[in-house]
Amino acid sequence: MKRLSDYRTIVGDAIIGEIYQKAKKLYGKRILHINSTFIGGGVAEILTSLAPLMNSAGLDADWRVLHGNTDLFGITKQFHNSLQGEDVDLTDLMKKIYIQANENFAAYALIDHDVVIIHDPQPLPLIEFYKKSQPWIWRCHIDLSNPNETLWDYLKGFIIKYDLAIVSSEQYERKDLPVRQRIIQPVIDPLTRKNIGLTDVEAAEHLSKFDIPIDKPILTQISRFDKWKDPLGVIEIFKKVREKIDCRLVLCGSMAMDDPEGVEIYDEVRRQIGDLIESGDVILITYENSLLVNVLQQMSTVVIQKSLREGFGLTVTEAMWKKTPVVASRVGGIPLQITDGEDGFLVEPTDIDGFADRVVELMKHPKLATEIGEKAKENVKSKFLITRLLIDYLDMLDYELKACRS
Ligand code: UDP
Repeated sequence: MKRLSDYRTIVGDAIIGEIYQKAKKLYGKRILHINSTFIGGGVAEILTSLAPLMNSAGLDADWRVLHGNTDLFGITKQFHNSLQGEDVDLTDLMKKIYIQANENFAAYALIDHDVVIIHDPQPLPLIEFYKKSQPWIWRCHIDLSNPNETLWDYLKGFIIKYDLAIVSSEQYERKDLPVRQRIIQPVIDPLTRKNIGLTDVEAAEHLSKFDIPIDKPILTQISRFDKWKDPLGVIEIFKKVREKIDCRLVLCGSMAMDDPEGVEIYDEVRRQIGDLIESGDVILITYENSLLVNVLQQMSTVVIQKSLREGFGLTVTEAMWKKTPVVASRVGGIPLQITDGEDGFLVEPTDIDGFADRVVELMKHPKLATEIGEKAKENVKSKFLITRLLIDYLDMLDYELKACRS
């Protein structure tokens, strides 16, 4: 099990001490997290670390997964897209399937915890099917700055029953939501296989085991095959970069269980660049392997994150932690993660030339890349590690439990 003390050498004793002190008020409190996938995507990534660390601090944390099927996840993926602004034809059948999945889960999942934390829209309606006797918190990891109004209005019907909504950025707070809101920015865990420090020699050895050559600079995007992550845009950028500098592109995107659109987008990418895949200039990876993600982030010359929407990009923070310069879209939560020109570069999401120029600049100037990478790691260390998230959660839980009693 993960232990808090394992993090002493990374964040220092003062922070670990602060966590133990804050946790005292919450000893034995039973905290339940519910989301909709164990694997794939940022939420599963965070819960894999957060739940055991809450336990290590003295709380009783539990993590359950809403059992979904293709129908449900097809609908909730549309909800996800639509919360990020896309149109949706919200039918009665969709609502029925959504509600039914939550009702079915409630029929066998006992909830008698002290606090319930629901992640994202999939399990949001669960609150309808329990006698509420504790704080229920909705933790939304999605960019809510411009949701489709019809869908938002429908989901709001559930959210208003919650005690608190947590979002990742001030821009996502909703004025029309009569529920307290709190901002907690997502983080990474420096001790997972995905983020653990490796020497360049170790990382290079691992890469060769995964059949990824390092004879040329590598440009990488690590993201689900998702239209909002714009893999086709990354390919356009790669083509422009290659006019100036010989390099290889790796698109690494495992398929999340609750994301049925991934296969379609992957097929589209393959169709468009069959020749580049054949020649080995572009490598597509669809399996889940944390060590591979780690070494790719470390060994890439530049990591790109060409999102069109991004609640908060964990992949950005992961690469920064490995001192790899990141060129990313100026959208959603990413500007909170990167200070343009200091510890990475931000580019307008539609500016293909701008992206290509920054990538070329970093590939041609290793000293600049090193300086940016050093600052990136410092930034992550001070703001975006799991210990900071744990402190935010402890503060939040203490407040909510007190508010519930008063
Ligand atoms: N991820 C992974 N393998 C992949 C693609 C993504 O392990 O092939 C991980 C990635 O390292 C990160 C998470 O999935 O930890 C994605 O989180 P992010 O916030 O970047 O995007 P989301 O998928 O939540 O929109």
